[in-house]
Amino acid sequence: AAKNAGPSARIAYHPGLRETGRQQAMLIADLREAIGGGQLLLEYQPIAVLADGLIVGFEALVRWQHPRLGRLGPDRFVHLAESEGLIGDLGAWVLSQGVAGAVTLNTAAGRPVFVDINVSPVQFGPRLTQDLHHALTGHAVDPAMVVLEVTETMLGSDRQWLAGELGKLKATGARVAVDDFGTGYSSLARLRDLPVDIIKIDRMFVSGLTPGAPAQMIAGILQIAASLDMDVVAEGIEQTTERDLLAELGCRLGQGYLYSRPIGLAQAQAMILAGPLIR
Ligand code: C2E
Ligand code: MG
Ligand code: MG
Ligand code: MG
Repeated sequence: AAKNAGPSARIAYHPGLRETGRQQAMLIADLREAIGGGQLLLEYQPIAVLADGLIVGFEALVRWQHPRLGRLGPDRFVHLAESEGLIGDLGAWVLSQGVAGAVTLNTAAGRPVFVDINVSPVQFGPRLTQDLHHALTGHAVDPAMVVLEVTETMLGSDRQWLAGELGKLKATGARVAVDDFGTGYSSLARLRDLPVDIIKIDRMFVSGLTPGAPAQMIAGILQIAASLDMDVVAEGIEQTTERDLLAELGCRLGQGYLYSRPIGLAQAQAMILAGPLIR
């Protein structure tokens, strides 16, 4: 019992909470300790040129190695960090760790390799710019090799405010990608005049792509991206047929289980040294 007498154990016996609420409360208490306590880690998923499999970047994805529950994915705890006021601390950790990962991977590759870092909408504000600046300072990495992924839902925010916030991030030299594009009902026109460098097409539009099936959404995204001079990454590629069709449509970059699941930093280093991901 002494071994489990952490904050979760105390909350676990609170009589007023329902089971699910209790479990959530335990997780929240644990998460507070996890962020500063070395329980978070980043995995990296390669982003490749569809035409030849050359790895040009990685997306950093956070995981929580929970002492009792095992490894938890971000869908289990990022929303809790957002609602409990912990996303600033979590985000700062991800930023500093992600930039360090970018340094490692660029050094290993001996050529430019970008690292995407996911940013929560709740993180926006003065601290985000400050933390980004802090993470980039003192690191021998081209800031353009750090790409901040913001969710498409953010495009619905006040336009002037958003342009200002993204402008502040861009002022550090980092680049900006719009994640999960196509899911948020925001019109493609919303992208115009925003300092966005990369569009990530959501997996929803990629999975099940077959020859002859309509691909208007992807074609539309590619067209506007080309006209705005933005690069495009297709997410969630699992099949060679999907990869081939995306390439035919004119999509340059992709990521997904076809190439690799998210892996540790050492594995990512080895992967980039092993050459293109021929699939
Ligand atoms: P996302 O940014 O859209 O990341 C892509 C997700 O799709 C990842 O899930 C990845 O493992 C998964 N994925 C990649 N390729 C495939 C595929 O071929 N098939 C399928 N079925 N899935 C694939 P993951 O790691 O569970 O992350 C889920 C979401 O959590 C991310 O979606 C992102 O929104 C959020 N997230 C991850 N890391 C962070 C972080 O450091 N900070 C914040 N704020 N959010 C994060
Ligand atoms: Mg992402
Ligand atoms: Mg995504
Ligand atoms: Mg997604």
